[in-house]
Amino acid sequence: MAQIIADRRDIEFVLYEQMQAETFFKHEKFKGFNRKTADLIISEARQLAIKEILPTFAEGDREGARFENGEVKVPECYHRAFKYFVEGEWTAMTADPELGGQGLPLVLAEAASEYLVGANTAFCFYGLIGHAAGELIEIFGTEDQKKLLLEKMYTGIWSGTMQLTEPQAGSDVGSLTTTAVKNPDGTYSLTGNKIFITSGDQNLTENIIHPVLARIEGAPKGTKGISLFLVPKIWVNDDGSLGEPNDIVCTGIEHKMGIHGSATCSMTLGGKGRCRGLLLGEENKGMRVMFHMMNNARLATGFIGFMCGSAAYLYALDYARQRHQGRDLEKIMDAEAPQVPIIRHPDVRRMLLWMKAHVDGMRSLIYFTAACFDKIVCAQSDTDKAYHQGILDLLTPIVKAYCSDRGFDVCVQAMQVFGGYGYTKDYPVEQLLRDCKITSIYEGTNGIQAMDLLGRKLGLKKGAVFMNLLQEMQNTIEQAKAHDALKDLHPKLGKAVTRLGKIAMHIGQTAMSPDFKTAFAFAQPFQDIMGDVIMAWMHLWRATLAVPKLNDLVGGLTGPSREKKIGKNKEAAFYDGQLQTATYFINAILPVTMGKMDAIAATDNSVVSIHETSFGS
Ligand SMILES: Cc1cc2nc3c(=O)[nH]c(=O)nc-3n(C[C@H](O)[C@H](O)[C@H](O)COP(=O)(O)OP(=O)(O)OC[C@H]3O[C@@H](n4cnc5c(N)ncnc54)[C@H](O)[C@@H]3O)c2cc1C
Repeated sequence: MAQIIADRRDIEFVLYEQMQAETFFKHEKFKGFNRKTADLIISEARQLAIKEILPTFAEGDREGARFENGEVKVPECYHRAFKYFVEGEWTAMTADPELGGQGLPLVLAEAASEYLVGANTAFCFYGLIGHAAGELIEIFGTEDQKKLLLEKMYTGIWSGTMQLTEPQAGSDVGSLTTTAVKNPDGTYSLTGNKIFITSGDQNLTENIIHPVLARIEGAPKGTKGISLFLVPKIWVNDDGSLGEPNDIVCTGIEHKMGIHGSATCSMTLGGKGRCRGLLLGEENKGMRVMFHMMNNARLATGFIGFMCGSAAYLYALDYARQRHQGRDLEKIMDAEAPQVPIIRHPDVRRMLLWMKAHVDGMRSLIYFTAACFDKIVCAQSDTDKAYHQGILDLLTPIVKAYCSDRGFDVCVQAMQVFGGYGYTKDYPVEQLLRDCKITSIYEGTNGIQAMDLLGRKLGLKKGAVFMNLLQEMQNTIEQAKAHDALKDLHPKLGKAVTRLGKIAMHIGQTAMSPDFKTAFAFAQPFQDIMGDVIMAWMHLWRATLAVPKLNDLVGGLTGPSREKKIGKNKEAAFYDGQLQTATYFINAILPVTMGKMDAIAATDNSVVSIHETSFGS
């Protein structure tokens, strides 16, 4: 089986042609980069991924993380890969080089991550979570905290976690009961239990800095009384040296469906009454701080869902080209006809194109969102900054939920393409499917994302942010009008965008009416159709860029000679693929989305009115 992780040609298309990454390289902050260095970075990430990380994918799954004698042990093969990951400085790609990062624009870091994370997501948590936790300190920490902790977290010498969940406080974080009491020396003593903590313990780094949500004694109930504390696994002395082990211990790990190599830990804090932490930010303002990490983790989770789908699609495509089974439909009655590769069968092609359409669309959405981050960094004015921040906030639940749901759906389709072999451990798709499933559950379930979209994000700036997003789509439609080849497609997207606006207005108003519960019963379907329309937008955008390129390559040719040229010229085939995929998505998927919009517009209230006992005995 080929060693496939990501589609380099498509990455380059989205990075340079669609998102125009080179414009970011002109900004002061990213001036050390150009196309050549960027390509080199992606190639290095690819090399590390293929040589060191991908071999840990199946082996790490088989061995899994273990809990032995009170200690967590990651799969043995992770140690070598982790060493190279840290030495290659991949642990904090976008962080300031002065703090131990590489200073990459996020769009470029996403391209590198497609290889690194795509090779084994369970492995990469250990290497990347230190940066994610460290960013909280960089933004909200005191100068002493930054000096003491940041560099080691960014360079992978130490790692991090995020500790929110407790048995009674999952989606409902405000119900947490871990407590904190202020000590005379300014530190806090914490007591409580956390569950489901990713990388809560491991034997890869010499220390772990845990951001922990807890309630200071006497603080208000709910999220308003929550504070955030930095709790080191091993206490860090004022001079930066390591002190005594802190009283925060892993008491066991979960046995899960997937991501076996990633340790999901139950943690006890203050079991011996000696768990010390430092306040991060202000008392009772912990959720505000933690939301910074949660939003980034939500985007990263959508990215992982997409990555699993992307790899599964590429494996399925490779298999479909090699597996011979059945005869060509044209020769179905001819028993002498040879078996053909299954990619020749219309039903297999349907599955492949469905997968390609979603994978390509998700890549564009994810890079578009990453480009918003970079545009915020490069913004010339506060208005500019606020514009991109708004779009980013609005898209966060879509990236998290749509990409994790569709990423999983792509894995399901990929398994179908493999037939019975897909269900075995001989091929990677069954593991990708298992590893992917968690992405729709953690970092706020997709149902919670939908409530966030309807309850908070649609109404951002009185709906102006949503209107800005629709306007971005209209801009693409205007550009598509210049191309005759797209004349049947752009009006269909135009209709879908107008309808999306009306449906958003309808569901938003219903959410503020006495029927608000019915509106929230349709929050997830709304999230889904919004994701679909965004996919259609991304495909029309791709096609708008592809048509002139295709004209340059095969312009003037028609019929078989055009087909022949496209078949023989990889670049022509790539751009033709953009046009065909956009045509498929807009003609074969978007009408289904329009039907789903009808259902939302009807806002049937059975979901709310059905009696609990009527669900069944
Ligand atoms: C492998 C793994 C790793 C994890 N890593 C971490 C980590 O590193 N740090 C951390 O803090 N947590 C972590 N978690 C916890 C994870 O974020 C939670 O499992 C998740 O937020 C859901 O909480 P829950 O499991 O208690 O489900 P519940 O909150 O009980 O939800 C059950 C169902 O009810 C729905 N639901 C709940 N409340 C509402 C509501 N108000 N409105 C509508 N629907 C609702 C949910 O959408 C879901 O479908 C991890 C979990 C797993 C499995």
